[in-house]
Amino acid sequence: MYDYLIVGSGLFGSVFAHEAKEAGKTCLVVERRSHLGGNVYCEEKEGIHIHKYGAHIFHTSFREVWEYVNRFVEFNHYVNSPVANYKGELYNLPFNMNTFSKLWGVVTPKEAQERIAGQRLAVKGEPKNLEEQAISLVGTDIYQKLIKGYTEKQWGRDCRELPAFIIKRLPVRYTFDNNYFNDRYQGIPIGGYNRLIEALLEGIEVRLGVDFNEHRGELSALAEKIVYTGAIDAYFDNSLGRLEYRGLRFETERLEEENHQGVAVMNFTEREIPYTRSIEHKHFEFGTQPVTYVTKEYPADWRPGEEAYYPVNDARNQALYERYAAMAAEEKNVIFGGRLAEYKYYDMDDVVLSALQTVRKEMGAGL
Ligand code: FAD
Ligand code: UDP
Repeated sequence: MYDYLIVGSGLFGSVFAHEAKEAGKTCLVVERRSHLGGNVYCEEKEGIHIHKYGAHIFHTSFREVWEYVNRFVEFNHYVNSPVANYKGELYNLPFNMNTFSKLWGVVTPKEAQERIAGQRLAVKGEPKNLEEQAISLVGTDIYQKLIKGYTEKQWGRDCRELPAFIIKRLPVRYTFDNNYFNDRYQGIPIGGYNRLIEALLEGIEVRLGVDFNEHRGELSALAEKIVYTGAIDAYFDNSLGRLEYRGLRFETERLEEENHQGVAVMNFTEREIPYTRSIEHKHFEFGTQPVTYVTKEYPADWRPGEEAYYPVNDARNQALYERYAAMAAEEKNVIFGGRLAEYKYYDMDDVVLSALQTVRKEMGAGL
């Protein structure tokens, strides 16, 4: 009998398993996919780490989280500075003085602020949706060229039907600073994310290719408690109806050239191009290989049985999630954690912090 059966080997499951083992508990991890790591998994080809499930840049302002992950793997000094491509015009992201200057020819922060102040008058009162939030942050020109098309492809719905918080993830700055994040710490694990996951799970038994929801009876009998990091609606057999997720499709190409796009992440912001991002993986690690691998990321409707990449946190789904969360709270001996079980737009650092807090509470209670 194990102390914990951990469903999912993503960051939440791996951090929980590691800390539980350190506290003297026995753990069994079951993972549906054929590899460890969930969405941070990388595949190595010709010395290049390919981010199989989309570009992953670790960034955090939680010092504790940064120190924690650095115990397992060293991080490089990569700073994410994506470039937006709108019909062949290139703009720096996030929205900053380089973007404003290219777009309007403005030179000073004051001129940029005046432009945006004039355009934001289009929104009256508190922004009620993503469109209003975007216009009130950066005005109508940037909304039309750099936000509307990208967002509607990404989420498969009109910007007026999306929650405002999604666009607040992006900084807006009146300085010449192309760092996509405001966080204090940032980088990519040297040698790839798999190293982090392998170090966390060292000495812990893992069974790959096992779907908990298909073998629930026999697996539950193996442990005192379960830590579940899969989709919360799937755990309850979708008994209240399905939550919506956003899907993705990735197309990776090997190119016989050293440097294809000159940047790790290029965003294609016009509606007509069906993909949102093109990722040239070698640039995450300053690679100098003679070849390169480039992945196009196509947003897609999510269908049952496919990987669920993003929760769709609109009012309807959020209300349904709350009902599942109430059922989860009644579930004896099961801990629900991570992006899918909490139906939250978590970044990696949020997941690590949440797992650390959960496991500490749990170990404290168990001692
Ligand atoms: P997951 O990584 O999804 O792990 C859950 C695991 O559980 C999976 O391996 C899954 O196969 C397994 N599982 C699910 N159900 C079952 C079951 N029934 N039985 C067995 N196993 C099961 N965050 C950042 O901080 N920076 C970024 O740049 C960034 N970029 C991202 C880009 C994309 C395209 C996406 C989708 C996410 C990105 N994220 C980023 C978010 C990041 O991926 C997540 O915060 C983090 O990986 C979530 O970890 P997790 O353990 O909660 O979930
Ligand atoms: N976004 C946009 N244009 C861009 C980049 C992002 O409009 O060039 C919007 C889009 O709605 C996206 C949100 O900002 O969903 C958050 O972007 P982020 O890069 O944080 O998305 P993620 O990496 O989580 O997919």
